[in-house]
Amino acid sequence: MTTEQKSEKKRASKMTGATSTPTLHTELLIDGQLVIGEGLAEPIINPASGETLVTIAEASIEQVEAAVAAAHRAFTHWSRTTPAQRATALLAIANAIEKRADQLSRLEALNCGKPLHLARQDDIPATADVFRFFAGAVRCQQGQLAGEYVPGHTSLVRRDPVGVVASIAPWNYPLMMAAWKIAPALAAGNTLIFKPSEHTPLSILALAPALAEILPPGVINILCGGGDSVGSQLVGHPRVRMVSLTGDIVTGQKILQTAARTLKRTHLELGGKAPVIVCNDADIDAVVQGVRTHGYYNAGQDCTAACRIYAQAGIHDRLVSELGEAVASLRFARKRDQDNEIPPLISSRQRDRVASFVERALGQPHIERVTGAAVHSGAGFYYQPTLLAGCKQQDEIVQREVFGPVVTVTRFDDLAQAVDWANDSEYGLASSVWTQNLDKAMQVAARLQYGCTWINTHFMLASEMPHGGLKRSGYGKDLSSDSLQDYSVVRHIMARHGTDF
Ligand code: NAD
Repeated sequence: MTTEQKSEKKRASKMTGATSTPTLHTELLIDGQLVIGEGLAEPIINPASGETLVTIAEASIEQVEAAVAAAHRAFTHWSRTTPAQRATALLAIANAIEKRADQLSRLEALNCGKPLHLARQDDIPATADVFRFFAGAVRCQQGQLAGEYVPGHTSLVRRDPVGVVASIAPWNYPLMMAAWKIAPALAAGNTLIFKPSEHTPLSILALAPALAEILPPGVINILCGGGDSVGSQLVGHPRVRMVSLTGDIVTGQKILQTAARTLKRTHLELGGKAPVIVCNDADIDAVVQGVRTHGYYNAGQDCTAACRIYAQAGIHDRLVSELGEAVASLRFARKRDQDNEIPPLISSRQRDRVASFVERALGQPHIERVTGAAVHSGAGFYYQPTLLAGCKQQDEIVQREVFGPVVTVTRFDDLAQAVDWANDSEYGLASSVWTQNLDKAMQVAARLQYGCTWINTHFMLASEMPHGGLKRSGYGKDLSSDSLQDYSVVRHIMARHGTDF
């Protein structure tokens, strides 16, 4: 290759972002400016190798103040833009994501250890779609009719933005969770401060320059930092009017306590422990394939993961045996990206947490290890995909969210018992029922106390459909036009006029 060809290749790969090691952006976005954090510097780790990728300094107290002040100033203008203007910006963000698809998927792969081909094929298109959905949804909202509800007075209802929103995200799908939080908040006319997880800021920081070009200064600010530092400063700030969190239940509880002081609106998407009810008449091949995929996708670091199976006695043994084989065949930690199906856990701490859940479970004489149940011996924070059978309803492993590649099986005889057990949980995010009898499926779906129930599938999301929990899984909806309502307030305008005309 000539020097000219080489530099042309370099230029082309720069344009498409198709370099093997993407640029690691470390600058925060405050008031339209990309700036280095002035707080504590934290290492960002590649969980597939355990190596430090880069060090990023979190926002200082003064930088958090500056970001909130910028969002507060920007609200005056942004809240008065039309839905069409905001839709144009959201569509531009979707285009910017697609243009950088290679770079962003590489960053997700590096920062989370995800197989690159999955990040490229799943995370990036889903993220762009969320921005496109909200661009359309904000232009065709519906509401109550204006009219004379009191003689001589015309009433109408407005939906207005809440104000400055602090959006706080977890690490399992960094860019997609950012889209779930940013798109509806901006579409509804709010300004915001987005805080990614301290573990996974790389993809949103890479998008920050594009966001700074598309949006007026201050409309979106991106601050890195820990929950106890930057997170809690945002939650306590009097000028922040709403806090939106996707995270752990305990984090949600802490945020509620702090937010109560300033009576903020909160939107909480918390943990899950999805029950999977498998009836005797289910298509077992479909169940095996479904749980192999949706119980272990992203190494089970998914709040909707199909992790708590209730298997009816007639199919229990066959299901355990066939699922055990299928789970043992899951591929990970291989050299060639295409060969991998699941990533490692996000940190050694998370891996050890998963390992200790399994260790305690196997300390119970009635619980049987079908497959897995060990830390992977090579580099990275991998844990073997694990299936445990013989679990009982009151076992810790059945009751608590593990957030790892661990699925339990509990046998049942009577369907009513399975529904009761499924509902006997602090969580209420997602569930599924597997049967070839639609009549039965609809009855079970009606009785399950979960934000979502799938029939003969699991973990399928659509931008148009609401996603969110009941009970301690939180409240408020992500995705769908329901979330536009969560990020806006209803106001009544009433005009007095004569009645004699
Ligand atoms: P986490 O609660 O530890 O952290 C989430 C975010 O909250 C991070 O950005 C963190 O810095 C911040 N935070 C922590 N303490 C805070 C505080 N006191 N004040 C303000 N911010 C604070 O959760 P995680 O470990 O990153 O993610 C895993 C959890 O997220 C799991 O429980 C999972 O079920 C849940 N989750 C839920 C959904 C959903 O849609 N319901 C989706 C994905 C993940």
